[in-house]
Amino acid sequence: MSTILYGKAVADAMKEGLAAEAAALTAQGVTPTLAIVRVGAREDDIAYERGAEKRCGIVGVAVRKYQVAEDAPTAELLGVIEEINADPGIHGCLLFRPLPKQMDEEAVRNALAPEKDVDGITDGSLAGVFSGSGRGYPPCTAQACVELLAHYGIDVSGKDAVVVGRSLVIGKPVAQMLLAKNATVTTCHSRTRNLAEKCRGADVLVVAAGQRGLVDAEGIEQGVVVVDVGINVDASGGICGDVRPEALEGAAAYTPVPGGVGAVTTSVLAAHVIDAARKSV
Ligand code: NDP
Repeated sequence: MSTILYGKAVADAMKEGLAAEAAALTAQGVTPTLAIVRVGAREDDIAYERGAEKRCGIVGVAVRKYQVAEDAPTAELLGVIEEINADPGIHGCLLFRPLPKQMDEEAVRNALAPEKDVDGITDGSLAGVFSGSGRGYPPCTAQACVELLAHYGIDVSGKDAVVVGRSLVIGKPVAQMLLAKNATVTTCHSRTRNLAEKCRGADVLVVAAGQRGLVDAEGIEQGVVVVDVGINVDASGGICGDVRPEALEGAAAYTPVPGGVGAVTTSVLAAHVIDAARKSV
């Protein structure tokens, strides 16, 4: 029987501590506050925004929302970022990406003040993840993957970890974070040959490709621990991950989709905002 690694249990375990810390800061006159910046109205952004607002509300983090039109020029979005940077009442910023094609994403993400970069989007924060200096916050989803494993007592030290995906948001940082925990890490991507064979070599398999059904039974070795980060829409309009559900039978443990990593990501985000608020005092 596989163990199901529910994200809610992790979020619940984090809730009390976060709420107490947020309440203590608020009592000192510093309410931890997150700015959410959304460009356009993508459904997945709106769904994440709703989840983040809900989780922040539960633990006592205030949210301020900013919206920019899909066809706006980069300068307009940069203006919003500058406004957030200059506002001492805002401690962290969540910017939904990818940005529309006409926008200079690199310029926008690096315009954010480092101390407000609670989702690891600036090059400075990412450098902190890679150097292990602890400077800056890692991307929330990548951290959610390692928090989830730690919560369930899954030690990756000395294990073979395979990460499918190499984005700056998930794949690359999660690979570095697993390496920092002494896993031996292989990173796969769209040009990887024999993906199933690589996956079969994993003790811990993290899949973050955004491709429904990418990993099937051929890629699942008996006893593997699977963290499925993918969020896709299935044939009947429901949410599903990157790993075929029927392939998970032989896994020692796996995260469900929905109800796995996503449920932890917003708690990590709230934790980063509270920490940034504490550092601002
Ligand atoms: P990106 O599209 O930025 O990156 C996808 C990665 O997967 C790329 O590195 C790509 O390789 C790789 N890839 C794509 N197709 C294949 C393939 N056939 N075989 C092997 N590798 C492949 O996505 P993100 O990293 O932003 O997100 C990944 C998934 O995670 C998405 O489903 C997203 O919705 C979900 N997500 C979940 C969150 C959560 O909290 N649970 C939060 C954020 C995102 P290459 O580099 O070669 O193109």
